[in-house]
Amino acid sequence: ERSPRNTEIAAAVSAAYATHRADSGGANASYIPYLASVDSSLFAVAVVTVDGSVHVAGDSHVDFAIESISKLTTMALAMSQIGPDAFHSKVGADPTGMAFNSVMALEMHSDLPLSPMVNAGAMASTSLVVAKDAEDRWRQILKMQSEFTGRDLQLSEVVNSSEQQTNFHNRAIAWLLYGGGAMHCDPMEAVEIYTRQCSTMISAVDLATMGATLAFDGVNPVSGARVVESELVPHLLAEMMMEGMYTRSGDWAYTVGLPGKSGVGGGVVAVAPGELAIAAFSPPLDEAGNSVRAQAAIADVATALELGLFRSR
Ligand code: GLU
Repeated sequence: ERSPRNTEIAAAVSAAYATHRADSGGANASYIPYLASVDSSLFAVAVVTVDGSVHVAGDSHVDFAIESISKLTTMALAMSQIGPDAFHSKVGADPTGMAFNSVMALEMHSDLPLSPMVNAGAMASTSLVVAKDAEDRWRQILKMQSEFTGRDLQLSEVVNSSEQQTNFHNRAIAWLLYGGGAMHCDPMEAVEIYTRQCSTMISAVDLATMGATLAFDGVNPVSGARVVESELVPHLLAEMMMEGMYTRSGDWAYTVGLPGKSGVGGGVVAVAPGELAIAAFSPPLDEAGNSVRAQAAIADVATALELGLFRSR
């Protein structure tokens, strides 16, 4: 039996998919060989609500690389282990105003990361996971990702080897962080595991479920399991709002008004706390690194459902 709200959500998902299905514009990420090769026509929209209802359109079960969205789940893991205050003091929480992989942002801030949603802060987060060795670090990170999605996620060997062979820029960032005292394990281990955490495969439904877990105070509404402590959820959503959509995070806050996180694999998720999460997937990206069709579809769903963190009602 469908509630009126569920009927409305299903209609919004179908409409957003139909409206943007044939949109052109953007280009697949080209700096990672695997991502350049993904079928650009793939497109999916998915909503998962806090009562566990799932609404989908398009290629909603096609897997794609999680990429930068992994920054969120590793942040959750590191914060839950060392506490939100220690995490804040070691990584920071401010937008850099620069590209996600900016070296200049580090130079300007004494080689400290500033935000867990850019590569520097994300690799610092990976290094903060309390682990006995690299494999233990990886196992815990993958487990956290799997709990957020409610499914045993897998590393893509193809994506991972493609990235491990081309991640020199991230290695440079890791050494700068190390020099600044902001790396908390061997810096090359942090890059290696960060690169792996970017190479797990998720679907649009998985992504919406991750978001819905944040919307539902840290409990995965599909599996029913608590994934992250309630007190950590606002910190995660705050960082999504500040820097989750790369250098367009301000534009996203202004127009959509929901905490979002994007990855160069073409996935985007937005969270309406207490109600639902909207995810979309389409590989072609704008200049900032956000999926063109995913942003448009999510904005439409949010508008149709009158969602937005800054609305009074
Ligand atoms: N693995 C990618 C990198 O570190 C992820 C970037 C992203 O999605 O923003 O360059």
